[in-house]
Amino acid sequence: MLTTTIDRILDAAISGHTLSIPDGLDLLLQTDQGALEVIRQAADELRKNLVGDRVTYVINRNINFTNICEQHCGFCAFRRDRSDVDAYWLDWEVIFEKATASVQIGATEICMQGGLNPHAKVDGVVHPTLAYYGQLLKALKTQFPDVHLHAFSPQEIQFIAREDGLDYGTVISTLQMAGLNSMPGTAAEVLDDSVRRLLCPEKINSATWLEIVSTAHRLGVHTTSTLLSGHIETPAHQIHHLERLRSLQQASLQRNYRAAFTEFILLPYVGQTAPRALRRKVGRDQPVLADALHLTAVARLFLGHWIPNHQPSWVKLGIQGAATALAWGCNDMGGTLMEEHITSMAGAEGGTCQSVENLQTAITSMNRPFHQRDTLYHLIPMNSSILKDHPAATLG
Ligand code: SF4
Repeated sequence: MLTTTIDRILDAAISGHTLSIPDGLDLLLQTDQGALEVIRQAADELRKNLVGDRVTYVINRNINFTNICEQHCGFCAFRRDRSDVDAYWLDWEVIFEKATASVQIGATEICMQGGLNPHAKVDGVVHPTLAYYGQLLKALKTQFPDVHLHAFSPQEIQFIAREDGLDYGTVISTLQMAGLNSMPGTAAEVLDDSVRRLLCPEKINSATWLEIVSTAHRLGVHTTSTLLSGHIETPAHQIHHLERLRSLQQASLQRNYRAAFTEFILLPYVGQTAPRALRRKVGRDQPVLADALHLTAVARLFLGHWIPNHQPSWVKLGIQGAATALAWGCNDMGGTLMEEHITSMAGAEGGTCQSVENLQTAITSMNRPFHQRDTLYHLIPMNSSILKDHPAATLG
């Protein structure tokens, strides 16, 4: 049985009102199946009001260019020391081979993120780390001028700035001139420093993450927004995290910055092969789908019209779980990725690649129409896809 409080909160959200933190927390604390179903219905209705029934996807390629990383995040099974036998740092030729293959089968976006590798430098220049990242972008942009380069998390921006003694604005604007189009809003994890101290103690703190993202928006670089859920955080941490994202988005829009968050992506924790200490605390290895769906719906209601695009992670939830999330407030299925190492090495069962056909089939299974988009959510005319000329290009 619904309480009048929950009714009031859901009515307010559907009417376009901005929910308070206690309102969001009330929604997150519901456990009754009837209450969860009306929360789902409200999120689905708000999604329909804001963005309609269409579900989008992007043809992209993920390139994790190095797994050598100086940090030791508690959830990370991807990082390696330079001396480890399976440490890698891709040659540019390999990066270019991957990029070329993906563009030939219709990719409109190349996404690049990697470990924080102190050896990623260009010899003999003033800012060697920035030069490495900049030259990588510039070379890709020169060869693929129409491809959107979605690259480098706020943590990577801070790493470059620290290594070269630069401010964040200088790093971002230099990368922008080299061809950077947008940035992943990863490394946010949970924007609460007490959680970060346990989860990822060497990472940038919440204020620095927010500062770097705000700087990117001011400079005209769009970012995504994320939340790593389902580990040691509480519902209060989750709702405060969403509030910080929403406040930053409000500020970016109200200040007429040239960019903002393009979407929200929930990233449920996968711990199968992650470091033991956190796994022991969490007590399970795969996400609980019901919890992820509940949080997906609350995020849709709480972020309201401020962040209209919501994407589930098929890497974390599997393609069927991600399809189910379309009924809990999501309107996007993400990208083909073609390869993914960071979550798959943590033991995710969702795979590392989806064909366009798989994404379309998953969307259709939820009785929703699909459409290809670019990174910034512009629709791409379906008959213009290069895939037309490559009927066997299923990317799988
Ligand atoms: S999550 Fe990123 S920063 Fe943390 S250890 Fe892994 S690769 Fe390094």
